[in-house]
Amino acid sequence: MARTTARPVATREVRVDSARRRCEACGTRTRADWRSRRCVTTLAGCVGLSVQVRVCHREECLLKGVPLRAEGEGRWVLPEHEFGLDVLAFIGAQRYREHRSVPEIHALLRQKGVAVSERTCTNLLDRYDELVSLQLLDAGRLHATLKRQGRVVLAIDGLAPDIGHEVLWVVRECLSGQVLLARPLLAGGEQELVPLLAEVKRALGRVPLVGVVSDGQRSIRNAVAHALPGVPHQLCHFHYLREAARPLYEVDRHAKKELKKRVREVRKVERAVEGRDDASARATRAYAAAVRSALTDDHRPPLKPSGLLLRRRLGAIEKSLERVEKGGPASRS
Ligand SMILES: [Zn+2]
Repeated sequence: MARTTARPVATREVRVDSARRRCEACGTRTRADWRSRRCVTTLAGCVGLSVQVRVCHREECLLKGVPLRAEGEGRWVLPEHEFGLDVLAFIGAQRYREHRSVPEIHALLRQKGVAVSERTCTNLLDRYDELVSLQLLDAGRLHATLKRQGRVVLAIDGLAPDIGHEVLWVVRECLSGQVLLARPLLAGGEQELVPLLAEVKRALGRVPLVGVVSDGQRSIRNAVAHALPGVPHQLCHFHYLREAARPLYEVDRHAKKELKKRVREVRKVERAVEGRDDASARATRAYAAAVRSALTDDHRPPLKPSGLLLRRRLGAIEKSLERVEKGGPASRS
């Protein structure tokens, strides 16, 4: 089908790395052989995904040479799709929860800045219908794939398209990248998730379930512990890091706020030398500008905390002022 809208350009890059680094079949460390790049149109703009692909190179391993794409990719987009899973969830919720027509949904998406044609909207609604009506593993091909790979790693994601409390729950198999089940539910509590996971487990039959990857929300954690007892559950690295960094981030933000209070008077200092053009006034203005620039300079927490950076910069300004003061004549007026 010809495109009726220009192909969008990615406005943001996202790196998706594998949460599991060991081969599921033989246990040796897999190699990060390459990254696969793709553009995904989401509700929040076009995202350039850089997906880590790992490969087991051990001779005679069942998974030798099989490209294992980072688990997190499926949270963004289905295989071979151009539009993000969040767009699908949005379209489905608008159609079935809000009873909107395709032209209405199309208009809403355009309002949100999503470059999509009405025709594509119709196609995406079809994809959504297929997705949620997916009869678990009824495709013999999928079951054969799972049997061949001998084990299953699940990923569970909940996508909230912003309407009421509906969440589109998607359960994927990470080694094959296939969606096993997708259900829109009005809530994402443990009670709703347990039957969902139990259904997946039943359908897998004898194929062993060796792990679960998720963002680690409490409801998912509890549901996994309940429905899949004994199955290792790993948080995705991104969420793991983010959670671990949260206390640090809070402390740093507080430190920054306190530091800012101490230099609030900078405007007063500037005003004091307004209209003057002597060396001392020029130096004062330069220092004030340095303070202002330190205040607006933001780092990237958690690895580069802004509060610490501000402290370093203000410290340097203070030291410089002390040196000037000791030096005598060029001291601040
Ligand atoms: Zn292997």
